[in-house]
Amino acid sequence: MGGEAQNAGGAAQNAGGADDYAARRARMVEDQLVRRGVRDRDVLAAMRAVPRHLFVSDDLRHAAYDDTPLPIGFGQTISQPFMVARMTELLHVNVRSRVLDIGAGSGYQSAVLAELAGDVFAVERIPALAEQARERLTKLGYRNVQVLAGDGTAGWPEHAPYDGIMVAAAAAEVPPALIDQLAEGGRLVIPLGPTHGEQVLTVYERRDGDVRVERTLHCRFVPLVGARQRDAWSRDHEDDASDGPGDEGPRAPRWDEVGP
Ligand code: SAH
Repeated sequence: MGGEAQNAGGAAQNAGGADDYAARRARMVEDQLVRRGVRDRDVLAAMRAVPRHLFVSDDLRHAAYDDTPLPIGFGQTISQPFMVARMTELLHVNVRSRVLDIGAGSGYQSAVLAELAGDVFAVERIPALAEQARERLTKLGYRNVQVLAGDGTAGWPEHAPYDGIMVAAAAAEVPPALIDQLAEGGRLVIPLGPTHGEQVLTVYERRDGDVRVERTLHCRFVPLVGARQRDAWSRDHEDDASDGPGDEGPRAPRWDEVGP
């Protein structure tokens, strides 16, 4: 948006501009997050700051601040804003945190984490999505995020241990490598449960040589598809030769997560 438009067309030209999106974002934070009990001020500020509309395709921009996940191609989705905020809140990150983000997808969650944490290491198994997320994050000026195209069930050992590990895809059980890469005091948030059913957002915390487990809200995520564990999807489809629903096809994604 260039300068201050004084002519009659000014307001109309500004519709869909940066200010308009900022206003929608502020409304999203109030109506979808604060109203549902997200309280962490830093998380709310991060959600107010990250331009979610730049993490979806042009034709979905109008819906970027709606209370819903949206398709990002390859049968995958950008998570519902509330789910991103709640998961981020559960992770307890601050400027000193080193965070691992598994299932980078559009890169949106990585950007929210980058607003709060010291360093973010993001892993995405679909190379085209990883590349797109990397480009977006660079263009938006996030210098504290690195994106790796690969299987996140192995974590990213080179940068371990992590103070926070976020997993944005559902698994039958937590990949052991991720627990191994969790720092003392570190927290891991992952949806656990069957691919086709309701999952539970589960928090692991490593403290004093122990790993504590806390089950929180119900959720629905696309499956975590990886070599390091028998994921829920392959367990349900023992005879299927493909490696999951990640290939883009004519069918609408069936694994969209929904709100609690
Ligand atoms: N956090 C993302 C949500 C993407 S949906 C966002 O903000 O847009 C979950 C993502 O997990 C998908 O992009 C999917 O390809 C990815 N994924 C599934 N299994 C994975 C694995 N083993 N390693 C890394 N990424 C994986």
